[in-house]
This record gives sequence, structure tokens and C-alpha cells, in this order.
Amino acid sequence: MGLDSDRLRERMIQRLRDQGIQNVRVLKAMAFVPRHQFVDAALASRAYEDSALPIGHSQTISQPYVVARAIELALSHLPFDEPPGRVLEVGGGCGYQAAVLAKVFAEVYSVERIAGLHQQARRNLFPLALPNLHLLHGDGLSSAGRSGFFQAIFLAAGMPDIPLDLLRELTSGGVLVAPIGSPRQKLVVVRVTSGETQSDRPTYERREFDEVSYVPILRGLQK
Ligand code: SAH
Repeated sequence: MGLDSDRLRERMIQRLRDQGIQNVRVLKAMAFVPRHQFVDAALASRAYEDSALPIGHSQTISQPYVVARAIELALSHLPFDEPPGRVLEVGGGCGYQAAVLAKVFAEVYSVERIAGLHQQARRNLFPLALPNLHLLHGDGLSSAGRSGFFQAIFLAAGMPDIPLDLLRELTSGGVLVAPIGSPRQKLVVVRVTSGETQSDRPTYERREFDEVSYVPILRGLQK
């Protein structure tokens, strides 16, 4: 098809800059991932618009601005001197944000509860060959109990309140970025501010940012 995707993606990057995204790492990752390959061919020409588009199973691909914003917020709350490490995405959907995360962080685990979307993400991501991206079919809220495992956790679906179980999976200094609230959501960053030793209880610092609109998180698995 006659889609000049490089040029459209460049325009998307310029728009993200105009919207206030500054982190070069984030902009580079957004420039790398071909968003049009994550949506149905009939929607490919709209892939670089700043909107959420349908991906089947009543779900949507995340809007470019919120993907960039969530990752930039995480990076700006993580210690500068540490290289970005291991992260979890809850709500992998078609795999778009997971691919962007994999270009920014060392190791990415992306969990999706709908089997059909999990398979779709596998197909979409195969050509990008990202060896540091691990796609899992599961309920991202049923904690695997790996405390202190992730440097950052991203929720790609909204919750009324902060999921406390997931906070335990963060390292000291780690961050959760999530759309929180009902009916209105805000992008919230929760940072673990202590808890380096076992006797030291973790404390959390919460900050609210943009008003956002994500699909709701659901529990359990779906075909
Ligand atoms: N990050 C995706 C956005 C997908 S929309 C992208 O870039 O395209 C949110 C996704 O969260 C949906 O696919 C939905 O099925 C999934 N989801 C909702 N609740 C979940 C849960 N508890 N565990 C895992 N995935 C979940």
C-alpha cells in the first residue's frame, strides 16, 4: 500500500514534541516502532493519528501521546544514575506499547488476559525481533509474588484504586505508572521511597498527572 509510514511517523514525533514530550530515549523508541503494523490494514492510514484505535475484542491500541507520556514520567521518577532495568506491562493488547518499552528498558514482561490478543501481539511483534520482550498470557493483577523484581510497572488499563499487590513487586526506588480513578482517571505515578532492607518498611510517594481515558482493567482470563 502507498503509506509513507516513515514520514507519518516523523510527523507523529514532531507532534509529540509539540505536546511536551522531551525525553530523547522515549522519542527515539516511538520513532522506531511502526505503529501501522499493530492495527488492521483497513486502519493503517490512521495509525499515526493521536488516537486510540480498535484492535478487536472490544479493546484499543494505546494513544501515542499517553504511551510516550507514561514512559517519560516513569523515567523522570527513576534514579538518573541507574540504567533502565526490568519492567512489567499489564495489558499488552496488540503489543504496541510493549515494543516501545522494549526499546527503552533492558527487560520487558508484558501480560495480556485475552488469548486472541496475546496471539495477535506475537504476530505483530515477530518482525521486530525484540529478544528482551517477553509476552505472557495471564491476569496481570494476580501477582506472581516476585517482590522487588521490577524497576517499573505500567498499567495499560484503568483501575479505581492503586493495586497494592503490584507495588510489592517494585524494587526500592521503583515506580508504578497507572491510570487511576473512576469515573475519571488520572495518570498516577507511585514511587517506592524506602524499603531497602527487610526491616525497613516500604513507603510510597504518589503524584497525579494528566487526565486520561483508558479501558478498564478486568480480572481473570478470556479466550
Ligand atoms: N498496551 C496496549 C493497550 C491495550 S488496551 C497497546 O499498546 O495496544 C488494554 C489491554 O489491557 C487490553 O488488551 C485488555 O485485555 C488488557 N487487560 C485488562 N485487564 C487485564 C489484566 N488483569 N491482565 C492483563 N491484561 C489486562
